[in-house]
Amino acid sequence: MSSLRFEAIQSVLTGEEKKISGYGDKKITAIFGSHVFNGRTMREYLSDEAYKSLMNSAKTGTKVERRMADQVAAGMKAWAEGQGVTHFTHWFQPLTGTTAEKHDSFFTLKSDGTAIELFDGDALIQQEPDASSFPNGGIRATFEARGYTAWDPSSPAFIIEAGSGKTLCIPTIFIAYSGESLDYKAPLLKSIAALDKAAVDVCHYFDKNVSKVTTTLGWEQEYFVIDEALANARPDLMMCGRTLIGHSPAKGQQLEDHYFGSIPERVYAFMQDYEQEAYKLGIPLRTRHNEVAPAQFECAPIFEECNIAVDHNTLLMDVMNKVAKRHKLKVLLHEKPFAGINGSGKHNNWSMATDTGVNLLSPGKTPRTNLMFLTFFVNAIKAVHDYADLLRGAIASANNDHRLGANEAPPAIISVYIGNYLSNVLDEVESRVTEKFSEQDEVILKLDIHKQIPELLMDNTDRNRTSPFAFTGNKFEFRAVGSSANCASPMIVLNTIMTETLKQFKKDVDALIEKGEKKEIAVLQVLRDFITKSKKIRFEGDNYSDEWAEEAARRGLNNFKTTPEALDAFVTESSKKLFYDNNIYSKRELEARHEIMLEEYIKKVQIEARIIGYLSANHVLPAAINYQNTLIANVRGLKEIGLDKKSYAAQLNMIEIMSNHIQEINDNVEAMIEARKKANNEADTHKRALMYCHEVKTYFDKIRYHADKLELIVDDKLWPLPKYRELLFIR
Ligand code: ADP
Ligand code: MG
Repeated sequence: MSSLRFEAIQSVLTGEEKKISGYGDKKITAIFGSHVFNGRTMREYLSDEAYKSLMNSAKTGTKVERRMADQVAAGMKAWAEGQGVTHFTHWFQPLTGTTAEKHDSFFTLKSDGTAIELFDGDALIQQEPDASSFPNGGIRATFEARGYTAWDPSSPAFIIEAGSGKTLCIPTIFIAYSGESLDYKAPLLKSIAALDKAAVDVCHYFDKNVSKVTTTLGWEQEYFVIDEALANARPDLMMCGRTLIGHSPAKGQQLEDHYFGSIPERVYAFMQDYEQEAYKLGIPLRTRHNEVAPAQFECAPIFEECNIAVDHNTLLMDVMNKVAKRHKLKVLLHEKPFAGINGSGKHNNWSMATDTGVNLLSPGKTPRTNLMFLTFFVNAIKAVHDYADLLRGAIASANNDHRLGANEAPPAIISVYIGNYLSNVLDEVESRVTEKFSEQDEVILKLDIHKQIPELLMDNTDRNRTSPFAFTGNKFEFRAVGSSANCASPMIVLNTIMTETLKQFKKDVDALIEKGEKKEIAVLQVLRDFITKSKKIRFEGDNYSDEWAEEAARRGLNNFKTTPEALDAFVTESSKKLFYDNNIYSKRELEARHEIMLEEYIKKVQIEARIIGYLSANHVLPAAINYQNTLIANVRGLKEIGLDKKSYAAQLNMIEIMSNHIQEINDNVEAMIEARKKANNEADTHKRALMYCHEVKTYFDKIRYHADKLELIVDDKLWPLPKYRELLFIR
């Protein structure tokens, strides 16, 4: 008997491998950025005037003049047509978690019917996608029903190839006509601008030459790659991106031989292929390696300005999905595709850099610059301390709930790891900066700190892999971010809370200076205060241990294990004030976003509930009953030929065990459907999300338990779904 499962396995074993040409005689630098309207191409295709104007608005975030926009559009069109592009699209990041495009051709008709190719400033600056189907949290329902996209000149336009078609993509923000943002990019740009201002103000205590601070982001993307045909034989992988049932394989990751092992050839061809596409798009990928789990891998680029890094990450996720198809592979970006096997994260390495070329989280070369480093370092810790719940909220999703708090991922408790050296430095500042702290003390302390810090650079092994938010020498690494997330979500929060903290810092320092305190002593006094106040967020031990959960509770740190609870952080009065004061979100926007995230959570769990019900009724139970019938026939036969009960005791036992599992699955699926109906009748979104979380989702594990038991009993030939060992080890 043939089933999708065995056809799929057959196709993997006999399928032809896709060879890719490699780089030929080309170096990466020869293709890097070839599909991007970057500085070099701009210079070629734009007048001096247009070039300067575009560069200036990219740098300052101001609008490009309408007249200039026409020139820029003409230049972009000339460049793109030279590459065979026929269409253009505004490219944006709605709150669906994916990217969106609406393609228009350059082709148009003049009033007299003449056909021309046209792309002018209007088309570049603003478009009106039919946006009614994107999530808006009620914003567009009550106001204008329309939204529009607006050009973001700070992120360069690029060309996407799909088959033989080529499209010019213009990065844009997406907003409602009433002004509210409906995407990730608009608030991200606001948070970057806010942090720029607050950080420059604080930099001026140390260096008057700083006039701009950019946020930097380097993400590390984890993902699984499995065979496409096998994935397609599993409705759960197809519809939910993760397996809802499936027994763990005899060989999992216990041996840990996959980590840094050699990359399987088929996956290697896929990697080379998507890397080439990424290079053309100017995504500076740098590392690739195996991850801990079988079939799990990671890639990471060189860090970039935050906005561009976010665009590049979302773009790369698209590229990976598309390129995988060419190799008949499937990329799983889900946070937890396989139970009992490591999940996938997306580490967000975050820092700030000045236009004078200083990384503000990199220890300095002189006592003076080290004080600047210490200032930003301590402010970041204080920000995480004050707004830990918001950071937790920023990474909350139905997918990530399966990962956070599970034993191989950072827990849902936010804490900061800084390592031994810096812990000592902070302790010293705390104990030595007293009320009567003198200028002489200051000089000695700064020298002492300075003597300690350079060693930090020498010792990069001082790392704690279990921390959700770790200082790693010259940046903070936010590790709890989910692999399928849009990095903008944590970045918006991180930038905003850093802004708020730096503003508070400046206020406190200025107040002391006004009282007659010397500037650097005032800085140290406030640092000491921040260090003391933020102490409870610092944790150097094993974040995965049970003791930490207990200790964290004693310290009063929250441990929100589920998304509906974690999201509450966005709608507290203090959060509303924070986002409003810093001009990131209005109160309405924040409420709308909260609503959208809850809806998204509900939808995800709802779909999973449907699929697990379907898998049970249409796959698991028929296979079990089928095998049970075989056993029954066997027992009958043995009886018929006159054997006694002893000779079919095992069969009887199995029949009975199977009956029990079948019954349990049936009952739990029915109860789950009832719970879903009840939840669907709840009008309040927040309550509905809680019901899906605590009343519907709770059946998943129960159903799975019995289904996985049946998988172990039922004749392998009759089992319709590719098993874990096939998904993870056949390629
Ligand atoms: P790992 O965390 O795997 O040990 P690295 O420390 O080399 O690797 O860097 C991880 C990521 O951090 C890379 O993507 C890198 O680009 C990024 N990164 C390095 N410096 C910065 C910085 N100043 N700002 C933001 N990201 C950075
Ligand atoms: Mg890392």
